[in-house]
Amino acid sequence: MLKIDFNKTYLSGKENEYITDALQRGSISGDGYYTARVSELLEEKFDLNRALMTTSATHALEMAAQLIGLKTGDEVIMPSFTFSSTANAVLKEGARPVFAEIKRNSFNLDPADFESKITSKTKAVIPVHYAGISCEMDLIREIAAKNDIYVIEDAAHAVNSFYNGEPAGGMGDFGCYSFHGSKNFVSGEGGALVINSQQQKLIQKAEVIREKGTNRSRFLRGEIDKYSWVGEGSSYLPSDILMALLFAQLQEIDYITAQRKRVFDYYNQNLKKFLDGDFIDLLPVVPAVKKSNYHIYYLKFKNQKIRDFVLKELKARGIEAAFHFQPLHASPMGKKLGYQAEDLQLTNQVASSLLRLPIYPELSRRELDYIIQALEEIFCSLNRQVEEVND
Ligand SMILES: *Cc1c(COP(=O)(O)O)cnc(C)c1O
Repeated sequence: MLKIDFNKTYLSGKENEYITDALQRGSISGDGYYTARVSELLEEKFDLNRALMTTSATHALEMAAQLIGLKTGDEVIMPSFTFSSTANAVLKEGARPVFAEIKRNSFNLDPADFESKITSKTKAVIPVHYAGISCEMDLIREIAAKNDIYVIEDAAHAVNSFYNGEPAGGMGDFGCYSFHGSKNFVSGEGGALVINSQQQKLIQKAEVIREKGTNRSRFLRGEIDKYSWVGEGSSYLPSDILMALLFAQLQEIDYITAQRKRVFDYYNQNLKKFLDGDFIDLLPVVPAVKKSNYHIYYLKFKNQKIRDFVLKELKARGIEAAFHFQPLHASPMGKKLGYQAEDLQLTNQVASSLLRLPIYPELSRRELDYIIQALEEIFCSLNRQVEEVND
């Protein structure tokens, strides 16, 4: 029996070299040599106006919520099918997360439901590019512009994903990237806040929030001769050691993406025959206008019973698969906010019937064949169970 992990971090081999170099440079706190290199790399590769490195996507989201001046009584629309961080950023400012439905074919925010939930209190929308496949940003931006609300992209899954040639994270007012160990390109913990506005005042405000409420960033650029406390802020700068690790990862962005695509395409080729069967509802589709970074490969089953059975059987064969987000509206915190588990039926249905398969550069052809063979066996045994019931 093979033993196949759900996720394995790809290492380019340069990580140690850059980390050692960062240590030798002697400035291992925030905004050192590697932090600058990584920001530049992101800004150049994705043609971004400004990318501020942060300690996480969670913190990038918090910064964005502060930058739009979110306050008590405001509402922010987001999918329920996301990580708690998306909603926490809003709650921290005293505002209310308003959960909207996702689309059946992408599990991304449904633009029509987003529009229907806009009220006079709505201040922003946070589309989440699920699995690295972009939301319908043309529609979302159009609705947001018409209603004068901010767009903050939760692009935690979507570094190196595109929509009509535009990079994820570069399409809204703000974009939030994650370099958490579970994502495609990693520093263990890490993130970035992308600021798409050219407004110098806004960028400076972000720098102040990120630097403990001081204008140290301007001081480091030599624009002022000392720095002082000028506003509210926290500490959202990652250590340069982590950015050295991330620099090694980002240099291999195209290789890592190509390897993930190989795995994704192999699953799709070999599993699409099961779409005709009784168990699988949907496999991921990458529409022509949406260039994916292949963050997730999922199987969406007809119901939870089948999903749970497949998960258990894969585990018994040494294969680590996983379900995903538990809808926020139906969580204990969602209930405290006044939501009911029965709200958002499609989100509930998707969350309970989704299974993610291993996807990472190191996954070999032999391992992939083993996983596909295991699924074939499991579907055969499910077919037999169905026949027995019918007899
Ligand atoms: C991973 C993730 C986050 C949080 O990222 P961190 O860098 O771990 O803070 C936020 N939103 C979504 C959709 C995520 O998947």
